[in-house]
Amino acid sequence: MARHRSVRGYDYGEDFEDDDLYGQSVEDDYCISPSTAAQFIYSRRDNPSEEYDYEGLKESSNFHLSHQLSEIDQARLYSCLDHMREILGDAVPDDTLIEAILKNKFDVQKALSVVLEKDKVQHLKVKNEEAVSTEEIAKGKSVGCQLSRNEPEIVPKVAKMTVSGKKPTMGFEVPGLTTEENGHRFHAPQKGHHGEDASITSDALGTKSALPSHTVQTSEEQSPTPASLKKSGKLRQQIDIKAELEKRQGGKQLLNLVVIGHVDAGKSTLMGHMLFLLGNVNKRTMHKYEQESKKAGKASFAYAWVLDETGEERERGVTMDVGMTKFETTSKVITLMDAPGHKDFIPNMITGAAQADVAVLVVDASRGEFEAGFETGGQTREHGLLVRSLGVTQLAVAVNKMDQVNWQQERFQEITGKLGHFLKQAGFKESDVAFIPTSGLSGENLVTRSQSSELTKWYKGLCLLEQIDSFKSPQRSVDKPFRLCVSDVFKDQGSGFCVTGKIEAGYIQTGDRLLAMPPNETCTAKGITLHDEPVDWAAAGDHVNLTLVGMDIIKINVGCIFCGPKEPIKACTRFRARILIFNIEIPVTKGFPVLLHYQTVSEPAVIKRLISVLSKSTGEVTKKKPKLLTKGQNAIIELQTQRPVALELYKDFKELGRFMLRYGGSTIAAGVVTEIKE
Ligand code: GDP
Repeated sequence: MARHRSVRGYDYGEDFEDDDLYGQSVEDDYCISPSTAAQFIYSRRDNPSEEYDYEGLKESSNFHLSHQLSEIDQARLYSCLDHMREILGDAVPDDTLIEAILKNKFDVQKALSVVLEKDKVQHLKVKNEEAVSTEEIAKGKSVGCQLSRNEPEIVPKVAKMTVSGKKPTMGFEVPGLTTEENGHRFHAPQKGHHGEDASITSDALGTKSALPSHTVQTSEEQSPTPASLKKSGKLRQQIDIKAELEKRQGGKQLLNLVVIGHVDAGKSTLMGHMLFLLGNVNKRTMHKYEQESKKAGKASFAYAWVLDETGEERERGVTMDVGMTKFETTSKVITLMDAPGHKDFIPNMITGAAQADVAVLVVDASRGEFEAGFETGGQTREHGLLVRSLGVTQLAVAVNKMDQVNWQQERFQEITGKLGHFLKQAGFKESDVAFIPTSGLSGENLVTRSQSSELTKWYKGLCLLEQIDSFKSPQRSVDKPFRLCVSDVFKDQGSGFCVTGKIEAGYIQTGDRLLAMPPNETCTAKGITLHDEPVDWAAAGDHVNLTLVGMDIIKINVGCIFCGPKEPIKACTRFRARILIFNIEIPVTKGFPVLLHYQTVSEPAVIKRLISVLSKSTGEVTKKKPKLLTKGQNAIIELQTQRPVALELYKDFKELGRFMLRYGGSTIAAGVVTEIKE
């Protein structure tokens, strides 16, 4: 999960070098990220000494068959064998492979399917060298096999939230920031998402948007390209967005889910296994991961590679951050964001969480491990607080690795007790937090309720998938003006370029004119893709790719916001905000340098003025022009950013009016925008 990225040209990797601090060895990184692990991944082609032993074929009982082949067919046979060996390793005897190849007339894919089918029973018994019991794996797989009816060819369907870093940016320095993350225990802002109570915000902040509603251009056709628009000159059709949204995805609602938790809690394994059990990963691919991870001496990482390998496939020669995958539950289509758990990557995690509606917090139930993640310096607390501050109100806590503690009820209760108390303090309602005992490795209680008596004797609740399905879908601001925050910019084939981002408000149709802020330039949306499928329109809550024409890619950075030219978002370098100071040691004074984390933006800023201290309960000014701000205080401040950022007032757009301030690698405050100056 340790993936680097640069945001607006700023490389976090440079800021966070002290790996020791986080208790993760370099080797750990290798196993988690296939991009770095590539050197360990078994590949025959890389190693000529391991070339396939064709001579050995002579001993095979099918040799006489292969021997009767023409030279060309023999070459084809060897090539097929080579290909199959890459996927299957040495587990299957030559005879079986040759037979399958010949029977299937050198069609590798068919031959592989036949062999895998045959090998299934045997393969299910393959011993997991590290931790998995044979029985558990077999159980997981057999479920997976039943479920993976459609056998998708490609590993999960994926959109990527990456930062290409290819585009030139203005470049800037970050004053005096260190790599150190010292895991402050801070008080969570009691801030709500989607209009719920918020301790930072005054009542006044909750007032309704005064902005005019979104006006839509009309046309006869729903999905004209700009070219066809130009040719026809026709106006575009007005759509009833709410009705369309209801019809979409067979009536299923879209939900953005972020997976958070301490490093090594088992996030990737859990989600990778879940995707496998849901049939989003075909068994051939899974088999390949198992072989590769076994050869790399890390068999237990096979499921984690489902997510990580996906990232690698999408890699455009640059470093990765939050991976995005799609899966479905009974009533929802979920966009899964797999946030990095490593402390170095909390900024990336903020980006992921800022775009999420709900979260799965994974904690390791093993003795000592839960405690390590929960205490100061662990990411369980910080992640919990961050997602809450960023507006996530519903949480599923996967109390994972329960197999390590023999599914003990006492251990589960101990963890839920401690964590429940903390999450309540952090501002989560008790009714919005669910604890689920799981084992990401064995697949227990992930997509179906566990049948194991060890668990059923004391746990009667939902499995993880059922819990995700039962999350309430948040209100989408489709009636508001269009806003999309850019999380990636890249050049694709064809004309124009692409941006990736989440639509925070309003909706868009192909052919729409858009304004990018900054740089205050217009362009046309030539194409929209949602979950890699081209669509005619997309609305608030959707993660989309837009193909844009009529603008230079150089102008666009991660963090830019696209809006409708008639209802533009404001870009500014100076704004006022109401903030809640977390549990920090150093007091905040005038001139304090910070990193402003706002949606996908991470921008150096300075606290220009301390305007007033506010009473936490009434919101009234208790002190004007304070000299300093200390932990737990509510205050109005003025911030000055180095470069313009596009912001909204919290009262108008809750999603676009909240931010986090970080300093020295720690989150020091959460805030909401109250006034945009210039
Ligand atoms: P992440 O850093 O949170 O994504 O954690 P990973 O998914 O990379 O898992 C870290 C390690 O924990 C790997 O060795 C996994 O095999 C192991 N692991 C994950 N889930 C479980 C589980 O449920 N039980 C056991 N025993 N080990 C697990």
